[in-house]
Amino acid sequence: MLLDRLSQAAAERERQALTRTRRIAHTPCAPRQTVGAVLADGSEAEPRSLLGFSSNDYLGLANHPAIVDAFAEGARRWGAGSGASHLVTGHGLAHHRLETELARWYAESIPGAAALYFCTGYMANLAVLTALGGADATLFCEALNHASLIDGARLARASVQRYPHGDVAALDALLAASESPLKLVVTDGVFSMDGDVAPLAELLALAERHDAWLIVDDAHGFGVLGERGHGVLEQLGLSSQRLVYIGTLGKAAGVAGAFVAAHRLIVEHLVNTARTYIFTTAAPPASAHALLTSLALIEGDEGAQRRAALRQRIAELRAGLAPMAARAGWQLADSATAIQPLIVGGNAAALSLSAGLEQAGIRVGAIRPPTVPEGTARLRITLSAAHREADVAALLAALGALAARATPPCREAA
Ligand SMILES: *Cc1c(COP(=O)(O)O)cnc(C)c1O
Repeated sequence: MLLDRLSQAAAERERQALTRTRRIAHTPCAPRQTVGAVLADGSEAEPRSLLGFSSNDYLGLANHPAIVDAFAEGARRWGAGSGASHLVTGHGLAHHRLETELARWYAESIPGAAALYFCTGYMANLAVLTALGGADATLFCEALNHASLIDGARLARASVQRYPHGDVAALDALLAASESPLKLVVTDGVFSMDGDVAPLAELLALAERHDAWLIVDDAHGFGVLGERGHGVLEQLGLSSQRLVYIGTLGKAAGVAGAFVAAHRLIVEHLVNTARTYIFTTAAPPASAHALLTSLALIEGDEGAQRRAALRQRIAELRAGLAPMAARAGWQLADSATAIQPLIVGGNAAALSLSAGLEQAGIRVGAIRPPTVPEGTARLRITLSAAHREADVAALLAALGALAARATPPCREAA
């Protein structure tokens, strides 16, 4: 019977140290958060204050007073719900203004660009890959793409080829061998579990050479990279009509949702055919209203200051962590972004490191397969502009104490 099967599966997960549980935040998103949990017996654990390094609130905007005020103002002005999907009656002036502003942001990097606002990045990715990836198309997917891109590729009618992580030559060979009339290269901009940046200049050159298109999911670069926070395209100075850019608005932008920026004919095609756009209720207009304030902060002086603070924290963490990791047999990933993975190897080792940190009052999530490849379980440390120098120092001190006790845990990986 189903429940027996599920109970066996749960026991197996437990045995492999793969059980996932949720915590309960008792306070708003911030580096220091009061966190509770429901225990195995159903009772609630006493909430504790923990210093966290796991959120994607890279600029510390999720609880920014100006954005919270804008959210409240948006709700007073536009109500709580949109009432319908965008093509029925749910498309409002706040959504429209947000799209207009985002189109302006990408006018340089994508000539002829328009923008389309989605409820989530997951839905935006499904939309792009299914609406463009018809039966005659081929998707060339980077090996470490986010789950939502993988699911989009599964759902698309297109044929799918995968190229190894960062392997421009392998992609070149696949594109050269392909006779598909529509070639779509699909990649994360910043890899969500590794923190490295895709070689987009090279990928774009390949796209131009092989008459392909380049779809970039910049969930972790939007707001963070580039002089004005416009993301990885700005940072790398790329410009082409062949770009389809997806940015998410629940991470650095601090609110919720996502957008696609692409040539207006592509956006129009999505409006008319993308099922995750058409068959879902439009996001609350207050979200779009709040996002206009968020965009202004990101693009302005305050955003620039926050990006500078974030870069500072990244440098402090890496300077302290690199020698420690070498001694403990951990591997600090080669990342220049806010995502700083510490690869430990085995699932149990990653969990025990995470548990050890929590005893010291610090919260860093252990990321295990299938989110990352077998044998590369890791602490995914993320930094935010809201962290202080002392916060990073506290993390380094706690990790240092655990490193001193660690038998090189990478050996478990085998
Ligand atoms: C978080 C994430 C998404 C999904 O965005 P949501 O708005 O959270 O649904 C898509 N792609 C990547 C790379 C992500 O990290």
